[in-house]
Amino acid sequence: MSGSLDGAMTAAACTKCPHPAVVTLRYAGTSLCRDHFLRFFGERAKHEVAKQGRLPEGKVAVALSGGKDSVSVLHFLHGLAKGNPKVELVAVTVDEGIAGYRDSSLPICRKVTEELGVSWHLIGTKELAGYTMDQYAAGAAGPDADGEPRAACGACGVFRRLGMNRLARELGCSAIATGHNLDDQAQTILMNHLKGDLDRAARLAPHSPEEAAKHPGLVRRIMPFRTIPEKEVLLYALLNGLPLHDEAECPYAVRSQRFLLRDVLIGLEEQTPGTRHALVRGQERLKPILAAALPALAVASCPECGEPTSGARCVACSLRST
Ligand code: SF4
Repeated sequence: MSGSLDGAMTAAACTKCPHPAVVTLRYAGTSLCRDHFLRFFGERAKHEVAKQGRLPEGKVAVALSGGKDSVSVLHFLHGLAKGNPKVELVAVTVDEGIAGYRDSSLPICRKVTEELGVSWHLIGTKELAGYTMDQYAAGAAGPDADGEPRAACGACGVFRRLGMNRLARELGCSAIATGHNLDDQAQTILMNHLKGDLDRAARLAPHSPEEAAKHPGLVRRIMPFRTIPEKEVLLYALLNGLPLHDEAECPYAVRSQRFLLRDVLIGLEEQTPGTRHALVRGQERLKPILAAALPALAVASCPECGEPTSGARCVACSLRST
């Protein structure tokens, strides 16, 4: 495989050895062959796991959607936990009920968990919310305040987080690992800034063990790939021969702000390589300052369902009653 993941010309040879490069990383000013790329990838992911508080002993859930990021993070963690009998990985999936999108990725989840010998647990938004996201978008919860069909992403995100947290907690997991990559993380940070949502910025995952201990009921999130660009995660999956579905876009993605910001960030990164990393570094510095300045962030239990909430009632219960 050859070609540049950053849009620059791929160097003929690896910067570190005479082998042909499979990737040029403009932000790092380097070209790498297969082996050196995989080594560099693994070093960054391991560094993140260590920085975020290491893999806890006992059960660790891996959020598995069947997409390249989640399949890759399961593969990476399976390798990392190999030979450590104190860590047991389990895979958890929320089926949003989106025809032509999620249903085509569920067979991938089954295949990869069977191959790796990891148990797989599935819950649907139908069970969590009373409707699938297709039904929600079609008006199952009524129109929005302007009388328009509701955008699915807001509710989908709420019930997906709820499902992951509930499954992981019921399975006795002390952490949930997600496949969020650098692009995802940079988009989320930018979205929080654009909405002026300091509370979310102060709570943004990953969570340290100390942070998680303050919020009973909320399973700690770790993100091994959060400093690795999306295209490099794809390259990791391809080089390891991981099963990938066709990566069809969710039909509701076009209405989301994340979709818009994805292109904005790609443009910024092209002009100024390192923009995404700078956003993540800025968030790292900002988070402890915000957490100290916003003491009212304490998470309580929702009086209706018992799930963790930072409000008087959790968003999932509010959505269910609309
Ligand atoms: Fe859910 Fe929106 Fe993502 Fe589709 S794009 S899976 S509706 S959050």
